[in-house]
Amino acid sequence: MAQAHSDYQNKQGTAGAATDNETKSALFSTYARYPISLVKGHGSWVWDDQGNRYLDFMSGLAVTNLGHAPEKVKDKVKAQLDELWHVSNLFQIPQQEKAARLLTEVSCADVVFFCNSGAEANEAAIKLARRYHQKVNGTDRYEVITFEQSFHGRTLATLTATGQQKVKDGFLPLPAGFVTVPLYDLDALKAVIGPNTAAVMLEMVQAEGGVYPVDRGFVQELAALCKAEGLLLIIDEVQTGMGRTGSWFAHQQYGIEPDIFTAAKGIASGLPAGAMLAKEYLREAFTPGTHASTFGGNPVAASAVVATIETMLEENTPKRAAVTGSYLIGRLREALADEPFVKEVRGLGLIIGIECEGPVAELVTAGQKNKLLFVTAGPNVIRLLPNLNVTREEVDQAVDTLAALIAAYTAKEESNL
Ligand SMILES: *Cc1c(COP(=O)(O)O)cnc(C)c1O
Repeated sequence: MAQAHSDYQNKQGTAGAATDNETKSALFSTYARYPISLVKGHGSWVWDDQGNRYLDFMSGLAVTNLGHAPEKVKDKVKAQLDELWHVSNLFQIPQQEKAARLLTEVSCADVVFFCNSGAEANEAAIKLARRYHQKVNGTDRYEVITFEQSFHGRTLATLTATGQQKVKDGFLPLPAGFVTVPLYDLDALKAVIGPNTAAVMLEMVQAEGGVYPVDRGFVQELAALCKAEGLLLIIDEVQTGMGRTGSWFAHQQYGIEPDIFTAAKGIASGLPAGAMLAKEYLREAFTPGTHASTFGGNPVAASAVVATIETMLEENTPKRAAVTGSYLIGRLREALADEPFVKEVRGLGLIIGIECEGPVAELVTAGQKNKLLFVTAGPNVIRLLPNLNVTREEVDQAVDTLAALIAAYTAKEESNL
């Protein structure tokens, strides 16, 4: 108490004098933030508070899939703001019903639960899998098998599911009920299946893990194995969903139907929303009172989901992403063909990774100086996530900028030798 009191006095400091606290942000340093404040966005472009314009090839991390401030979504959300912002899920929410209906129309899912983020959607998927086995089937199944290099979120359950050590450091003890095996190692996977195994969870493109589209043959074998063993197959489409990979959901290109899949990032064009989607036979596992979210699918978020899907249906956005994606990957392969620093260009639709021979963090900041925004996926991979309406001219401009940046970086590294 005495300590807290003297801390308080220290924080007050001497009147007028700059204390440590005035220079420190009041936010936790959970992000290594770039020294750029973005204040405005339209289509593929964003502006900072100095009036600089940037070509956005990260889309808020695969979120603004229709570009910044898409007109039809903006109109619908503004209209909803005039009517009703929030109402408890204890009432009927027509916008939420419609959003769910649309999601089931563009996928193999029959029932939807709305939440506010990707991690929450994956939590809901894990809970549904456990409850289905325990309450519908009366078995003692709870364990979820996941893969190395996967990413499933930052809550305690989803970081435990994540196959990357760095997200788990300092957060022990981790919840029980998860086991991680190497990707493509079906023998290792079979070896960990036991009487308590409930589900297998994976991404179709390991996104945070380095932009690795998962092999189609492996996915099909895995789906067959799950069926044979009575395990639920959960696909995490938080980053790959909503047209990003050239289909509504990436698994639609793999010839499989998951029991459960999740979406979030691109689902509401930038408003916070997440969804857990499942097949009809899982409906009865969630009865009233078993799972809930105060904000999940509220009228404003749900109207953004509805407008996002309706716009994508009208404009055939997933198809457009497939076409632009092949154009972008082709242009990159051509422009970077003779670049020894570049190991591989890979991707699916408009999630594209450029794997390099060394760290690429410096290229990201060089990109910002040249008014092109992109991110990494692990230390050596550049990740490109343009919006799905990006034009060929914008793609050409980004490819030219990137090729010049990489050439300049390689020349600089060589002169340092
Ligand atoms: C971003 C992401 C998540 C976590 O989503 P949040 O909205 O940040 O909780 C989970 N899985 C995948 C594949 C993601 O890309």
